[in-house]
Amino acid sequence: MRTALVCGAGGFIGGHLVKRLKAEGFWVRGVDLKFNEFAETAADDFCIGDLRDPLFVREMFDRRFDEVYQLAADMGGAGYIFTGANDAAIMHNSATINLNVLEAARCRNASRIFYSSSACIYPAYNQEDPDNPNCAEESAYPAAPDSEYGWEKLFSERLYLAYARNHGMTCRVARYHNIFGPEGTWTGGKEKAPAAMCRKVAAAPDNGEIEIWGDGEQTRSFLYVDECVEGTLRLMRSDFCGPVNIGSEEMVTINALATMVADIAGKRIRRRHIPGPLGVRGRNSDNRLIRAKIDWAPERPLRMGLERTYAWIERQLHRNDQPQRLAS
Ligand code: NAD
Repeated sequence: MRTALVCGAGGFIGGHLVKRLKAEGFWVRGVDLKFNEFAETAADDFCIGDLRDPLFVREMFDRRFDEVYQLAADMGGAGYIFTGANDAAIMHNSATINLNVLEAARCRNASRIFYSSSACIYPAYNQEDPDNPNCAEESAYPAAPDSEYGWEKLFSERLYLAYARNHGMTCRVARYHNIFGPEGTWTGGKEKAPAAMCRKVAAAPDNGEIEIWGDGEQTRSFLYVDECVEGTLRLMRSDFCGPVNIGSEEMVTINALATMVADIAGKRIRRRHIPGPLGVRGRNSDNRLIRAKIDWAPERPLRMGLERTYAWIERQLHRNDQPQRLAS
């Protein structure tokens, strides 16, 4: 039986990845600081522990896994990454995890290892024009990410590629672009724009108002989690090491995202623009390299993923409402 280790299995993408690996017949060990918040894990073995601890990490590598996925990171949405208040923790925690996991994988001669980097590594200077951001893979240098989260990802990308060169390891590096879907964080400050928008619209009455950070004309693309998992597995099993974008090329403004969610909800919604952490002005995936190297790229329309995500967040919201309604 093929075996897989998923670090960060208690998180959003990790949870979906474990389900997919189980469906493919793998024996899966998941590792995380916590269990999944919104669903039972599908992993055969789930170990709670801290990947910053090298001894714990060594224990997790008690066999030669066929596939190792390193998704664990100290991360969050713009509200967590861009205030500056969490910079030291983000850099220290994520870099330590990557150093530990990669070294343990080397010591156990793991067959192949995947690392999830981020679109946040791209230079801020290429993302000032909301209509024409440049996120082609080779544009990463000269490096100038707009956050310490991005700098750590860039360091860790290089770490994986250096281990591949110097230790003959099979490493795969993807740069994820804004992944969203059900069973992801949707409230509390670490949620991303699609989840936040779905929550705000679901909570608003018809003809109500939602708050949007900035003027809403900043652009982004968003990738549904199933396609992210598909791309991850295809890259892992390909001959191409990356780094390569895994993202959608359907770029929208945040205002257009709000309009799409309101339309899905069947509500008329007014937007109130307030100051808030924004990140770069424009960002879009560039999928030329992934198409050329693994003959695949995400194709599903944003709306399809948003419909599923909105339905799931609406259910979460009403579940949370229930005790209050019963009490009143
Ligand atoms: P997530 O926060 O839901 O999952 C990360 C998991 O790592 C969490 O469950 C967390 O508990 C775990 N973790 C953090 N520190 C740990 C530690 N010290 N020991 C053990 N576990 C620890 O995030 P996600 O959205 O599932 O993202 C997965 C990966 O993809 C991350 O590396 C992230 O940086 C990267 N990524 C995600 C996106 C996105 O849009 N979701 C975009 C770009 C890159």
